[in-house]
Amino acid sequence: MVEKENLELKTEELNSEENQGRREVTIEVPEENAVLPMLAMKGIVLFPNISTSFDVGRTKSLAAVAMAGEQDNLIFIAAQKERSVEDPQPNDIYNVGVVCKIKRVSHLDDRIRLYVEGVYRAKITEYVTVENCLSVRVESMPPVYEEGVELSVCFEMLKNAYRDSIGKNDGASVERLLAIDDADVFVNVATFRLDISEREKQNILQTVCVMERCEEVIASLNAQREIKEAERRISERVRKNVEKGQKEYYLREQLRAIHQELGDDENEKEEFEKRIKAKNMPKEVEEKALKELFRMSKMNPSSPDYTVLRTYLDWIIELPFSEKTVDRESIKDAKEILDADHFGLEKVKGRILEYLAVMKLTKKISGSILCLVGPPGVGKTSVAASIARSLDRKFVRMSLGGVKDEAEIRGHRKTYIGAMPGRIMYGLKSAGSANPVFLLDEIDKLSSDLRGDPASALLEVLDPEQNTTFRDRYLEIPYDLSDVLFITTANSLDTIPAPLLDRMEVIELNGYTQEEKIQIAKRYLVPKKLKENGIESARVKFTESGVKALIEGFTREAGVRNLEREIGSVCRKIACDIAQDGGKKKYTVTEENVEKFLGAKKYLGDDQSLENEVGSATGLAWTAVGGTTLSIEVCLMSGKGEILLTGKLGDVMKESARTAISYIRAHAVNLGIDPNLFSTRDIHIHVPEGATPKDGPSAGITMATALCSAFTEKQVNKKIAMTGEITLRGKVLPIGGLKDKALAGFRLGIRDIIIPKANVKDLEEIPADIRNKINFIAVSDVSEVFEHTIIGLKK
Ligand code: ADP
Repeated sequence: MVEKENLELKTEELNSEENQGRREVTIEVPEENAVLPMLAMKGIVLFPNISTSFDVGRTKSLAAVAMAGEQDNLIFIAAQKERSVEDPQPNDIYNVGVVCKIKRVSHLDDRIRLYVEGVYRAKITEYVTVENCLSVRVESMPPVYEEGVELSVCFEMLKNAYRDSIGKNDGASVERLLAIDDADVFVNVATFRLDISEREKQNILQTVCVMERCEEVIASLNAQREIKEAERRISERVRKNVEKGQKEYYLREQLRAIHQELGDDENEKEEFEKRIKAKNMPKEVEEKALKELFRMSKMNPSSPDYTVLRTYLDWIIELPFSEKTVDRESIKDAKEILDADHFGLEKVKGRILEYLAVMKLTKKISGSILCLVGPPGVGKTSVAASIARSLDRKFVRMSLGGVKDEAEIRGHRKTYIGAMPGRIMYGLKSAGSANPVFLLDEIDKLSSDLRGDPASALLEVLDPEQNTTFRDRYLEIPYDLSDVLFITTANSLDTIPAPLLDRMEVIELNGYTQEEKIQIAKRYLVPKKLKENGIESARVKFTESGVKALIEGFTREAGVRNLEREIGSVCRKIACDIAQDGGKKKYTVTEENVEKFLGAKKYLGDDQSLENEVGSATGLAWTAVGGTTLSIEVCLMSGKGEILLTGKLGDVMKESARTAISYIRAHAVNLGIDPNLFSTRDIHIHVPEGATPKDGPSAGITMATALCSAFTEKQVNKKIAMTGEITLRGKVLPIGGLKDKALAGFRLGIRDIIIPKANVKDLEEIPADIRNKINFIAVSDVSEVFEHTIIGLKK
């Protein structure tokens, strides 16, 4: 049979008026030593002042209830120590329990429901029967109230504690409970309701001292409150976590919906991530890119910052990292390509092939950077392009002319509005390969101002020690430039910043002779221009004399850029004619008809007079645009010996002028000059064609000759050109750029050139056809110059 004592318990304590305090309950206390039937309760500890109901089913219990019915409905109820014991013996039952009054009995199928009311606490003094029905003798245990205020304080504390811990959740019945003014009754009712263990409840039941009972309940309440508090805290935390997760999920869903609604590409982030991962970047770069992507994904797509980051990521993804072209290995093929692209330049091509061979053998780019130096139009840029072609690498060109701001090289920080990477990174991106040939054009035209020094930024790019981790300010990632083949070009070495020049291997490209120009025109420029203008090459012929007329009448340059331009103009005229006419007409460009195509000649042969003159001499100079001739003029006026210099003279030229004057003064008597002239004449020295910047110490002997002629009033043979510097003692010092100077003189029709003895070794640089046509006079002293040039000078 199922035992039901612990089931369906209905607490009715305080429901009736009569339960409002022990003293008010009228009970029939059994006689002293009367035998009371007894119930052993499973899992419930009853208290006095409590009305409750429960079901009873055990045989012994039913017998006890029946026995109670025969004697005033009084029954003693005590709790079992262990719930599981089915037939409890005296040892299994607590000693202290409650004498109860059975108020009502309801008969159900196999059990009965008892409505009882706890009357008073009692202690078993003796078990009378145990076998068929439990019956006992008991002794009441009345509460002991302490005297003084302590109890009332304690009672107040108990009520507060109760209110704090249970009160809030228990509604109206709490108010009624708190209205109880007897501490002992309060403890009974409160403990019965408390959610504490049976053992604890039993302990409180057994305690007779009221204050002690109060304290025990307070302790239990406090413990309970702490447990509840902890539970609350824990569940709060759990709830918060869940809420945060839910909130984020909800917001993300909303954001996704908004993006969809706005037509934004919600997959953008994923796409960027895929692109970054597919790119095979160095680890550090990938991490940086992913970090920026994470930042971007949290931004509003319409915010400016989002766009900035998006552009930035696009930049990083589009930069070549592992994308590299494979170098053409064969040096023979490289030579063929260089030859196919350029006429002549044997020495230059030879040095380039050496450079490429070393690169092939060492499998790395040589520490020094190639620097192609020469006048404009001699093919520096196109040689660099054919180096790229011969290696089968991509080609990038960046002009440094006028670059003042180092940000142009190294980029602006991302924080600037409209910031962009520098031109180096830009070039690499457009090359799409991490090992292109990178041409830095016109490195001699770099300048610097307040915005920083581009030369030092460039040094970082070119220096193999530093360029493995070049950091563009915008991109903020290390980039390895060591596989890039940098080539630079310059017109003159003088203005290249020294630290840069230090790292360069200079290859000089000189100006071309007329013969070379004719060949270049015929073999390269004419076919190129015809093709560019869509003209069949068979329809147009440039005769050799025609090209020569074109060179002489329309160009005056060391290189072939203007020549190419003029040939281009001729071709355009022809193209125009063909387009209008549509016939099969053939064209020949000759010496006679070249003006028909290009208009009147720009240069009418010798624009410099080579007539013999007093006080004027022909010099040769070297400028950034090639060799040139210059006519130095001297004029003496009555005065006090002052010196006047005009024309665009560099410092070196001014010093040369003074040295020359001093030399003439010192040797006046020997040269047949009246020494008084130096104090009665002012000297004016002028270098015409002032627009051409002349540099380098090479006009000393020319000035001395013009001066000597002016003072001796003897003519100078102007068909003899000269170049050389003088010392105070009259020694002639060597000069540079002999080839360009000789070519310039030759162009002017000069066939005798005085050169310093120390320059004889350089004559082999000059193409043989020109060299053989010029009479080079080597001198070591300025007196020899005078002998050759001043007509009728006293020996
Ligand atoms: P630079 O860079 O020295 O100023 P470019 O490389 O721009 O000169 O050359 C100008 C033009 O002249 C180009 O079209 C180039 O192909 C042509 N050119 C120069 N030198 C030669 C040469 N030796 N053979 C063929 N073409 C040449």
